Amino acid sequence: MNQKEIAAALQSMGLKKGDKVLLHSSLVSLGTVEGGPDAVIDAFVDVIGKEGTLLVPVFTALGVITDTLKKRPGAVISPCPVGTLAAIGADSETLCRDHWKAETAHGKDTPFTRLADMNGYVCLLGVDQDRNTTLHGVESLLELPYLNNTTQTFMTPDGETVTKTWKYYPGPHRDFIGLDRYFREAGALKITRIGNAQVRLIKAKDLFEIGLQLGSKDPAFVLCDNPACADCVRQRAAIFADRMEKESFRLTASSRLAGRYLPEMIENLKEVGIRFIELDYLQGKACAVLPPEKLKAAVDELQENGITVSGLRVEVVPDESAKLIEKAVAAGIKRLIVPLGDAAAVAACADGVEIVAYNHIHTAKKAAAALKELDQKINGFCFNPPAFVKAGEMPFLQSYKIGRFIRKNRQLDIADSRRDGVVTRLAQGNGEIKELISILRCHNFSGWFTLGGGVIYPGTLKEAAKDFVHLLDNM
Ligand SMILES: [Zn+2]
Repeated sequence: MNQKEIAAALQSMGLKKGDKVLLHSSLVSLGTVEGGPDAVIDAFVDVIGKEGTLLVPVFTALGVITDTLKKRPGAVISPCPVGTLAAIGADSETLCRDHWKAETAHGKDTPFTRLADMNGYVCLLGVDQDRNTTLHGVESLLELPYLNNTTQTFMTPDGETVTKTWKYYPGPHRDFIGLDRYFREAGALKITRIGNAQVRLIKAKDLFEIGLQLGSKDPAFVLCDNPACADCVRQRAAIFADRMEKESFRLTASSRLAGRYLPEMIENLKEVGIRFIELDYLQGKACAVLPPEKLKAAVDELQENGITVSGLRVEVVPDESAKLIEKAVAAGIKRLIVPLGDAAAVAACADGVEIVAYNHIHTAKKAAAALKELDQKINGFCFNPPAFVKAGEMPFLQSYKIGRFIRKNRQLDIADSRRDGVVTRLAQGNGEIKELISILRCHNFSGWFTLGGGVIYPGTLKEAAKDFVHLLDNM
């Protein structure tokens, strides 16, 4: 290959005088180039002219083309220790000026978005979308919840030493390669061959437009779905947690669903992005019968790992319910979820502990009557759809309406079952769980949704969370 051939190919892709191009490249991909990296740079300059601008990234593993361009007379280095670019040509200064002052390394007021505003191009020469740094600009404009802050101390062009934090900095792994198909399908990507290298050219404006559209539909659009990729698993969990934080309800998970042992529960909850747990069973034992010190140790260990106990669920209330309350208080648990039939006894000695009662053997009519009798003694109702199915009712169409639970409702167990008593995955049974979730969301319900509450869920926590999100996505 020589400079002339490369220039001709670039021209055939539509590049012309005055164009601004951000180039990501691999010199070896071209094969043997007469004149080396200088010939490649000169080929671009031949096409875009002195009025054009050529930019290269400085921060990734330095390529020879980058190294060569940086050393050219008049080269401008964008004054920012993150997302740094080097540029030659007419608009180098305009594109790179004050890069460090931007809020993010790749977003607004950076060379990446300025390039789009100035109708410039991104060119990938012998490299794929994985190297396309402008895509970080898309991520940061979307303010994706898995992005982090990065802090650096550096010297500004005025010689001042500054420590600064940039927001929405990219994480360790992402799957940019998967985006190539969308750019192609949109007709925004030109692909040609120069020497042995595949060359891709896209307008930065189109790249942002397509990327922003994809990302606003699916915030995980650049994450891989390889379950062995710990980075993307963690990043997906951050997206899930962020999504739940935007809801009016609070999401917790039954400990029995989360796992058998504490470390397993913690790992599973973190993997999904759930920050609360409702203690029902631990190692196959009812949490309510654990010795006080063991219960407290469990609560503490969860807390140390960023997981808060949303309540203690009791299936069998001991004769001395005062002891149960005492144990909960000592462990730092402020909320008890108890069977409606035993709620009066527990409430009688509950001091400073929230008591919520769930239906178990009741029809809606009887549950409502029992609730009325308890009146101010307890803090509210926990609606368990499978138990109403067992009582022969339709939980949404009958139980929910008959019971007028809306004002007393503090919790909905996210669980489903069939009339024959078999617990199913969500919206696979007769629990009308989707309808219940939907109506509570419409009321801006601020209580708890407990994944797998009061049942043995036929699946893993991950599957339950997926089932739940699937329902939310479809309402
Ligand atoms: Zn990944």
